[in-house]
Amino acid sequence: MKPGSTLRILLAQGPAPALAAAGAALAWLALAGDSYTIRLATLAGAQALLVLGYQLVFGHAGALSLAQGGLFGLGAYVAALLSLHVPWAMALTLPAAALAAMLVAAMVGVAVLRLQTHYFALATLAVAQLIHLAAVNLETLTGGANGLAGILPVVPRGWPMLLLVWGLFGAAGWMVARVLAGLAGPVLDLAREHPQAAQSLGIDVAALRFSAFVAGAGLAGLAGALHAQVVGVVSPDVADMPVMIGCLIATVIGGRRAVLGAALGAILLTHAPEWFRFLENRHLIAFGLLALAMVIVAPDGLAALVTDARRRLRPPVTPTSAPAPQPPTVARAAAPGTLRLESVGKSFGGVRALDGVSFEVAPAEAVGVIGPNGSGKTTLVNVVTGIIAADAGRISLGSETLRDRAAYAIARLGVSRTFQQAQLVAAAPAEDAVAAAAWRRSPRPSLPAARAEASHWLARLDAGSDAARPCGALPAGRRRLVEVARALMARPHLLVLDEPGAGLSRSERAALARHLRAVCAEGTTLLIIDHDIDFLAACTNRLICLDRGQVVADGPVEAVRRDPRVRLAWFGIDHEEGAA
Ligand code: ADP
Ligand code: MG
Repeated sequence: MKPGSTLRILLAQGPAPALAAAGAALAWLALAGDSYTIRLATLAGAQALLVLGYQLVFGHAGALSLAQGGLFGLGAYVAALLSLHVPWAMALTLPAAALAAMLVAAMVGVAVLRLQTHYFALATLAVAQLIHLAAVNLETLTGGANGLAGILPVVPRGWPMLLLVWGLFGAAGWMVARVLAGLAGPVLDLAREHPQAAQSLGIDVAALRFSAFVAGAGLAGLAGALHAQVVGVVSPDVADMPVMIGCLIATVIGGRRAVLGAALGAILLTHAPEWFRFLENRHLIAFGLLALAMVIVAPDGLAALVTDARRRLRPPVTPTSAPAPQPPTVARAAAPGTLRLESVGKSFGGVRALDGVSFEVAPAEAVGVIGPNGSGKTTLVNVVTGIIAADAGRISLGSETLRDRAAYAIARLGVSRTFQQAQLVAAAPAEDAVAAAAWRRSPRPSLPAARAEASHWLARLDAGSDAARPCGALPAGRRRLVEVARALMARPHLLVLDEPGAGLSRSERAALARHLRAVCAEGTTLLIIDHDIDFLAACTNRLICLDRGQVVADGPVEAVRRDPRVRLAWFGIDHEEGAA
């Protein structure tokens, strides 16, 4: 191997570059660093922890929290108060500050995480303001506007503190990176970008968001405590809006999701006032402009630029022939049962989308649903799978009531679905999109194992060649196949498909119908919505026709096809289909 390519591999892979960069920075500090430089570098480390926490909330959970700065301030005050009043418990200050912030986040998180984005932002802003107001007004405790002085550090300031702060960042960053490199990576992306699809795989998206919010708060509290210990004083400024704004800007500039981005953004934020000193007090303007430029030029931040450069350095991989995918041997959820709808109704304002819908689907039966556009087919799928709540009637699967159950809880009973508009993370390769279905398994498989199984399911649907392609690059019909594979990998008892054949060629549809027949023959119950009666005739034995929210026909495929009410429903809306 040429020395050049060894260097390339070192630069392009593994933690080596991060360690090398850290080593170089330390060497530079050791040679050139006066106490001021070291202090600044230490404060940058505390900022990096704050931003790393914010990445969990904002970048990974996709929640625009404005409480992160307030929680940083809370951690700073907890560290200050413990150091001044309980000096013998110094060792506990850092964990105590993190815990206090997590506790506050847990208390407000339960209430505010349900809110829509902008209300969530406002609610978290209010939390931050409360912390700031408490710092200003609880004078006997916090010293009011004067703050508190004489805060002791857990280790001496200077080199020991620098190493502690960046060591904590390294440890936390390594843990986060490790988790994200596994199955949690694609699962978090799906939960953020398509929460309904994640729920339909049994993933409790609200619980994920809550965990991210609380973990992010813990890092904020820790960062605040470290900051207070480096500086030695706290004032209400540590809980004020500029902290939050700085954190947000550093996250945008560094990168919303890469650990490296947290370090880069924080270093830039803490050092910008130095570098832009010639601008005097206007350095914030320069920083704001820089943030604006980043949003436009590199929305994924500096970290993405570095990652892209590393990817370009990486020597091309010679494709090895993939091992023949093993047929999965995963047990299914609970026992199968009959799907039963009794007088189910759902209105949207004045529109009666479902109106007294009743039918049953026996285990391992395959039933097709037809009906003109707007007849309530998708609404039917949504109420059965818990994406929207029915407002009348009963829905059950075997002995389990489905109505008013959360979508993820219904999925855990063995119900899988696809969506009329495929809900796939555009940047994720198809195999990762499918692999997310393994998240609820116990034991949870590794990402490579889940990918191997995913490519098996894709191959089974003749979509094996799409496995490595990003979902966003696939044509609409192929994206639907990826969704079908994902639903199959969840090993459902009941599989509900919303127009799976749309966008596929005639021959692809025929092949899909064959595969679905085979799935049914293995004992899976199928409920398939489609416009193409020939497609449904090929994969089901029974058709239900909906018109204006009501079941107008239900019976063997050929009988329903000839039913005059069905012909009328089709004629009224769709001449081609009706004439066919
Ligand atoms: P289909 O899938 O058969 O085309 P849908 O179930 O999507 O029909 O829609 C049935 C009716 O309910 C339509 O009139 C549609 O406009 C209305 N509808 C569906 N979803 C919503 C919603 N979220 N808000 C308001 N109206 C809706
Ligand atoms: Mg529809």
